[in-house]
Amino acid sequence: MRSVAEVRGAVRDARAAGRRVGLVPTMGALHEGHLSLIRRARADTDLVIVSLFVNPTQFNAQDDLAAYPRDEARDAALAEGEGADILFAPPVDEVYPDGFATTIHIAGLTEVLCGAYRGPAHFDGVTTVVTKLFQMTTPDVAFFGQKDAQQVLVVRRLVRDLDITVRIEACPTVREPDGLAMSSRNAYLDADARQQAGAINRALEAADRALAGGETDAAALLAIAREVLAGARIEPEYLELRHPEDLRPLEAVEGDALLAVAAHVGRARLIDNRMLSHPAKEHA
Ligand code: AMP
Repeated sequence: MRSVAEVRGAVRDARAAGRRVGLVPTMGALHEGHLSLIRRARADTDLVIVSLFVNPTQFNAQDDLAAYPRDEARDAALAEGEGADILFAPPVDEVYPDGFATTIHIAGLTEVLCGAYRGPAHFDGVTTVVTKLFQMTTPDVAFFGQKDAQQVLVVRRLVRDLDITVRIEACPTVREPDGLAMSSRNAYLDADARQQAGAINRALEAADRALAGGETDAAALLAIAREVLAGARIEPEYLELRHPEDLRPLEAVEGDALLAVAAHVGRARLIDNRMLSHPAKEHA
């Protein structure tokens, strides 16, 4: 479907029949990570809408919009194969008609990690388009990947602050056999960079192992992760330990902690994260 009116019609009919609506927002170039969200939506809801929209407002100059991988026919076949009912792929002017002038901005949470490096326009673009997708499709449940951990927190805050009646489900990160988090941007990696990129997850795992061994100090855990990255000649854009809900920086792991990383590897900017738990808490 290309138009908001068509999607609204389908949602209205489904609701009238007592069916629950699930939304999986994507920018396409679907991979197993996206497909896991679609499967989850298929299992949990009755009318599954996959949106495919490469949102221009969340890209910045370095992050080349024109180069973003696109293959709508392939995406449509994959989504259908997982049982999606509707692929909603609106053109840009259906989402941003002439004179569009509104931005949704969330303070605080968007100013750190990716927000600090990609600039405020990135999360403003995300929150504005996600709000619009929620208004267009009025889902009962929307499915997001934990791979974009900050995005999940931002979207949860958005629906809470704006009283949007959608439940947000965060789904686990799907990884390649060597641990690299699946991403549409992995397509930018040549063979050498692809090899290097495996170190990102290994760095997160090394910190997690050190925590299990009793090291709870943030600086020490970050140094361990940084050393694994350095071994693969990766200098992270950021590597930080933060509170998993409000993203304040942590000096030590006491309960749960979000270990988050971003790094430029070859031509790609990659992000990943791991939720760490204090060993005493896990056994409690
Ligand atoms: P994107 O197309 O990159 O905007 O991603 C669309 C959705 O898929 C977002 O909610 C992402 O967090 C999620 N996603 C992307 N990669 C993965 C992955 N490897 N595992 C699970 N979810 C993912």
